[in-house]
Amino acid sequence: MSFDVTSQPSFLRPAWCEIDLDAIERNVRQLKEIIGPAVKLFVCLKGDALGCGAQQVAQVCEQAGAQGLAFANIDTALACRPYAQNLPMLLYPCCLPQMAGVLEQHRLSATISTLDDVHRWAMHVSSGIDVFLKIDTGGLRAGAFPGEAVDVAKAIVSTGKLRLAGVYGHSLASYHRDESGAGVQPLQQQVDVFLGCVQQMESAGIEVPIRMFASSESVLSCPSADMNAVEPGRLIAGLDFPAADSRLRSWHPALVGLKSRIVMRKALASHLEADAGALFPIRAGMVIGLIPLGWSDGYPRRLPAGATVLVNGQRAPVLGPVHSELLRIDLTDVPDAVVGDEVVLLGSSGGQTITLQELQQQWGMDMSELFLTVGRRLPRVFRRTLTHQGLSRQDRIHQPCIKP
Ligand SMILES: *Cc1c(COP(=O)(O)O)cnc(C)c1O
Repeated sequence: MSFDVTSQPSFLRPAWCEIDLDAIERNVRQLKEIIGPAVKLFVCLKGDALGCGAQQVAQVCEQAGAQGLAFANIDTALACRPYAQNLPMLLYPCCLPQMAGVLEQHRLSATISTLDDVHRWAMHVSSGIDVFLKIDTGGLRAGAFPGEAVDVAKAIVSTGKLRLAGVYGHSLASYHRDESGAGVQPLQQQVDVFLGCVQQMESAGIEVPIRMFASSESVLSCPSADMNAVEPGRLIAGLDFPAADSRLRSWHPALVGLKSRIVMRKALASHLEADAGALFPIRAGMVIGLIPLGWSDGYPRRLPAGATVLVNGQRAPVLGPVHSELLRIDLTDVPDAVVGDEVVLLGSSGGQTITLQELQQQWGMDMSELFLTVGRRLPRVFRRTLTHQGLSRQDRIHQPCIKP
């Protein structure tokens, strides 16, 4: 099945975000170039692909040459299966062993951390599934402790039903020890612990086809964490991280727009000007507009100081208070603005641009939160222009509401 960018769900409420699927493709291809042909690229699609739309991103990943996908939600994995039919799909611990039949049917791989996991999954599998053994190198989340990993690997192999597809870990690049000594080992030590476990398995005659450790931060900063597969997530959505010199590149953010349209415009009557009890200071000749987007869509409930939007190429201040599904903007200095005009919270209008960095500052969020907040709450409009396998696709941005 192929996701058709032209048949996007229609919606009548003019408030939407824009996702550039070409950016995903460029990021996948660029990373593959960096890691080279001997290292496989699994893309982690947690958080509905960081709000970018897991189904669409899964399809683009397969088209662009990714060799696997990873999920922290079995429902998302199942929804993506029709769009990436040939890719291995790894599930982090996110469902019960009773689901083994579903994993068999849809070719999903389970994560095994303990001997108890081995026992329970083997009990529910009928013919066989691929599994990944996770190794805990300090995150204290899922994974076998290094001292136990080889025993868990032996147990997996001895079931005859659980096929060991590989081992993986989660590198913790950004965590450091504090003064009391709490924290995790430096990245290179985590790598050494992980490789030590793999070596023990191989010495015990256990084949470990995939060895995967690096996520976004470590794949850029620590080339020795590559092993023979990597599994970044946020990097593929276009977030940037500190990089080793050999891996310095620019990445392409997939979230490129957050937009709405004016649904009401009115001039405030002159008798209001001296109203000390008004919600906001009222100026002479003030004109306000409303857009159908508010804090239930992720807009900060406490209005950020200096928050503005773009209307017809001009900055317009946002006026508080922020409502759950409505936002008030000051159109006094945009006299030509009328109902139906586009309002840009992220993206360009005329010669002006609100960048991701500016929006992130306004909203007081880090970039991951911003992507998730915007991408998971608003309808998505997808951009796709690159050509694949002889199929030419037009740039079709769905117009949710035509300007009158
Ligand atoms: C989230 C996650 C990743 C991806 O992390 P990013 O920082 O988004 O690259 C990789 N591996 C595991 C096990 C994860 O939980």
